[in-house]
Amino acid sequence: VSDFSTTSNLQRLAGKVAVITGAASGIGKATAEEFIKNGAKVILADIQDDLGHSVAASLGPDATYTHCDVTDESQLAAAVDLAVSRHGHLDILHSNAGIAGGLPQDDVTRLDLADFDRVMAVNARPAMAAIKHAARVMAPRGTGCVVCTASSAGVVPVPALATYSVSKSAVIAVVRAMAEPMARRGLRVNAVSPGATRTPMLLRELPRIAAVSQGMSAELTRLVDEDVDSDSVAVMLEPEDIARAAVYLASDDARYVNGHNMVVDAGYSVH
Ligand code: NAD
Repeated sequence: VSDFSTTSNLQRLAGKVAVITGAASGIGKATAEEFIKNGAKVILADIQDDLGHSVAASLGPDATYTHCDVTDESQLAAAVDLAVSRHGHLDILHSNAGIAGGLPQDDVTRLDLADFDRVMAVNARPAMAAIKHAARVMAPRGTGCVVCTASSAGVVPVPALATYSVSKSAVIAVVRAMAEPMARRGLRVNAVSPGATRTPMLLRELPRIAAVSQGMSAELTRLVDEDVDSDSVAVMLEPEDIARAAVYLASDDARYVNGHNMVVDAGYSVH
C-alpha cells in the first residue's frame, strides 16, 4: 500500500468549497480532513456542536463548523448559503450524515414504523434535499457535484438492518434518478457505499447487530472480534478509505462520472 500522504499532496480539490454533513465524526470527519489536505475549504455540518467545533478547530483555518440538522430542509439550505457567503461559491455537497436506527429491524410482526420514518428522514430524504439546494447555488455557475454516502447494505440488504438497508437503497436510487437532471445543469451526483468502517457508529452498533443477526452473523461477529479468517473478504475499513473515494468523486478527475455508486467494501457485497 502506497503512502497516502503522497497522493494527498496532489491537491485534487484546490480552490474548491465543500459542505459535508455528519462531519463531526467518523467518515464525515475523515472526509473533511482529506478534502482540506487536497486544497478545499470545508464547512462541517452536524448536530454534535461541541464535537464539531473542536474538529473544525483541529483542521485549521480552512474548516468552519455550523449546526445543521439534515432532517430540516431550511438548515441544510442555510449550510449551503453559509458556504457561498463565506467563500463565494459551492463546488461540493457531501450528504453524509446517517443513523443506524433501532434494532432489530427484521422482526416481521413487530416492525417499528416510527423508527422507519426517522431513519428515512435522516438517511434518505436529505439526499434529495442536498441535490435541490446544491443545484440552487451550483446551477447558475454550471459546475459542481453532490456526493451521497450510501452503504453496501443498500446494495445487499443486511436483515438485522432492514430499515437502514432500505434507506440506503433509496439513497442509491436518488443518485441514479437525479444524475440526468443534474447533468442538464452541468452538475453531477454520485454515491459512495462503504462496507463496515471503523467509526463511532459502527463500533457502537456492531455488537448489537451481531447479537440480533440470524444466519449471517458469522462474518459480522468476526469483525467485532477483529479476528477475520484469512480466506474471508470481510474487512474493517478505515474512514480514510471512504474519504479518498469521496475525494475522487468530488474532483475534476471524475468530471464524467455521474449517477454512479462507488462501493468501497473490499468486494464483500459482490457475493
Ligand atoms: P458516525 O456516527 O461516526 O457519524 C455520523 C455523523 O452524523 C455524527 O457526527 C452524527 O452527529 C451526524 N448526524 C446524525 N444525525 C444527524 C442529523 N439529523 N443531522 C446532521 N448530522 C447528523 O457514523 P459514520 O459511520 O461515520 O457514518 C457516516 C455515514 O456513513 C452514514 O451515512 C452511515 O450510514 C454511512 N455508513 C457507515 C458505515 C460504517 O460501517 N461505519 C458503513 C456504511 C455506511
